[in-house]
Amino acid sequence: MFNWRYHATTIMTILTCLLVLRSHNPPLKPTAEEDIVKVYSVALDSNWCLKPDQSKQFVIPNLKSTAQLLDECLVDSYAVYRAIYVFYENWKSWFGDEGGEVDDMINNLLIEWGDKKRTVRGAYDIHGNYIPNASVVGLAISPNHLWAKRGKKGIGTSSLVHELVHLALWNIHGSADPTHEGGEDGLWTEAHTEFIKETNDLLFLIGDRSLADPNYSMDTLRSVMESYLKNGENSK
Ligand SMILES: [Zn+2]
Repeated sequence: MFNWRYHATTIMTILTCLLVLRSHNPPLKPTAEEDIVKVYSVALDSNWCLKPDQSKQFVIPNLKSTAQLLDECLVDSYAVYRAIYVFYENWKSWFGDEGGEVDDMINNLLIEWGDKKRTVRGAYDIHGNYIPNASVVGLAISPNHLWAKRGKKGIGTSSLVHELVHLALWNIHGSADPTHEGGEDGLWTEAHTEFIKETNDLLFLIGDRSLADPNYSMDTLRSVMESYLKNGENSK
């Protein structure tokens, strides 16, 4: 069980500290709501995070009181579903999925969204050059687990599709090919880079608002895809 009383106490303590600080340095009088947003969402840029959500909590099963908290804005889950739909339909056009590994992957996925870049010990750029202490906007964590920083202008500007490609390769070949077009794995090709660009361009063009809108029908989505995507002709 998540110990709400303990966490409520912690939150109250933080709020109290904020109020004490404010009393020494008073004039503005923000509402209680603004206080909560600050407490929960210190990392968020309020200019583009229109509805900062309070931290989401997920209970970790089989452990007594372990949970993870994500400090995040809402990413519409229907928009995410349709972004993954666009990804998968386009993936099949470019690379096929005869073994069904990618289908299986998109149906068993843990997506973590964040709002701040993460620093990792090292990462590779698209050409396979090693960058120590790299600041990253996405991570392929396991074959079914990715982390992506939200894109300022929607899913098409996030690293979701890029990370999905890593995960797809991981599921098909047993390696996510972290060196991209460089390195020795040779799994990630120029076609994958191009595929990501094409998919993201389309997602950006449609926009999260339409992706999230049930009135923007699947038929419309499919016909937009048909007219926009090159059906992988570049890969052949
Ligand atoms: Zn990558």
